[in-house]
Amino acid sequence: MSCETQVALMEAWFSATEQFSAAVKAMIGSQIGAMSQSDFALLRATAERTRLAAENARLLLELHRKEHGC
Ligand SMILES: [Zn+2]
Repeated sequence: MSCETQVALMEAWFSATEQFSAAVKAMIGSQIGAMSQSDFALLRATAERTRLAAENARLLLELHRKEHGC
């Protein structure tokens, strides 16, 4: 059983999750001590934004599955 919308939403979710994971890696890989407060705040904001985007993509997928029954 395959639904094109579900596949598209799933791909969007995976891609959002990858962006979040890249943002987290960037934070972990940075020399936080050597960083300015604003650079660190920017990294943290990016991680938060990508986390919310991934969460949102997952909710859209769940919602579609419920409504479409796929
Ligand atoms: Zn569907």
